[in-house]
Amino acid sequence: MDLFEYQARDLFAAHGVPVLDGIVATTPAQARTAAEQLLGSGSAVVVVKAQVKAGGRGKAGGVKLARSADEAEQVAEQILGMDIKGHTVHRVMVAAGASIASEYYFSVLLDRSERRYLAMCSVEGGMEIEQLAVERPDALARVAVDPRVGIDAAKAAEIVAAAGFDDEVGPLVAPVLERLWEVYRDEDATLVEVNPLVRTADGSIVALDGKVSLDANADFRHPAHAELEDKDAADPLEAKAKAKGLNYVKLDGEVGIIGNGAGLVMSTLDVVAYAGEAHGGVKPANFLDIGGGASAEVMANGLDIILGDPQVKAVFVNVFGGITACDAVADGIVAALKILGDEASKPLVVRLDGNNVDEGRRILREAAHPLVTLADTMDGGADKAAELAHAAA
Ligand code: GDP
Ligand code: MN
Repeated sequence: MDLFEYQARDLFAAHGVPVLDGIVATTPAQARTAAEQLLGSGSAVVVVKAQVKAGGRGKAGGVKLARSADEAEQVAEQILGMDIKGHTVHRVMVAAGASIASEYYFSVLLDRSERRYLAMCSVEGGMEIEQLAVERPDALARVAVDPRVGIDAAKAAEIVAAAGFDDEVGPLVAPVLERLWEVYRDEDATLVEVNPLVRTADGSIVALDGKVSLDANADFRHPAHAELEDKDAADPLEAKAKAKGLNYVKLDGEVGIIGNGAGLVMSTLDVVAYAGEAHGGVKPANFLDIGGGASAEVMANGLDIILGDPQVKAVFVNVFGGITACDAVADGIVAALKILGDEASKPLVVRLDGNNVDEGRRILREAAHPLVTLADTMDGGADKAAELAHAAA
């Protein structure tokens, strides 16, 4: 999960990373009040910053300085509702303005291929770091971080030296890197990035922007992270599936897919996409893995979610019976269709194979539900589902 800047800023503050005061506002009037508060407590300027999960907000006009509460209200008016790389701005953060002497770059991230962490640091921050990495790779230090040690004082000193900080500034920056490492480690992040990390006119080091990605696999040990989820942006069907313990990902196409086991579901996506080429280019509408237990209830929940997607025109159920045998899956499908009643209104192609397949097929044939078509093979089922989806589209 990627965080908004203001959320990253809160985590930074909690771990002792120096940040400036900031107040979130969703209306120009709130931005005005926030600016009054910050200007009243000693800030000479405030910065109004779009809160969207995209970089390059500054270039897009989503970061603006204001010298008065009036001006803050005006720029908030401009920024709220703005579209930045496909993200609508619903909130701004009004932050105390910094007087910047220098802009630096720092990040630490998971380096999967090297099986360790990677710290990147540069005395040339502020600009787009991808551009710097391409144009002048020497200006961006890359330092491997051993997960067992992390960024301790010695590693922080190594990083600032590699980045080219001088003897005056390096020792000021290094302890901030240690605190940023603590954010990374203690919050189970996969990315902590600060661009720019600045030295202010009075010589202090401040994280002026923050990007944090949290590892969802570690959610179980961070109950507080649930609050960071952006409920406005969550797909309602994905949220519903999550609540029912189903592994569901919404995609763009027309053919709903239910399978058991991630491997089977993924190959089903491929086969459906391929079959769709001959049927008007229809594509998979989702990924839904019902896992090992294809009980009537699980099947009903799965179908309910997929049929709730208005883009879905036909559904392909592709199940390989293992511990849960095909007859139990067939019973599950029949019972699920009964539970859903009129809500099940789209054609369903079912392909069963594996343990007790004959009994499973017999159950479905006898039930003779008008929406259900039986398929003998995975390719045949994908083709039929794509054909039905195209016909209904
Ligand atoms: P990004 O464009 O999405 O990365 O947003 P940033 O938060 O990094 O802001 C973009 C740029 O705005 C920074 O690189 C700074 O140059 C400038 N900026 C941000 N906050 C301040 C501030 O408090 N004072 C000044 N003078 N400039 C700022
Ligand atoms: Mn930035």
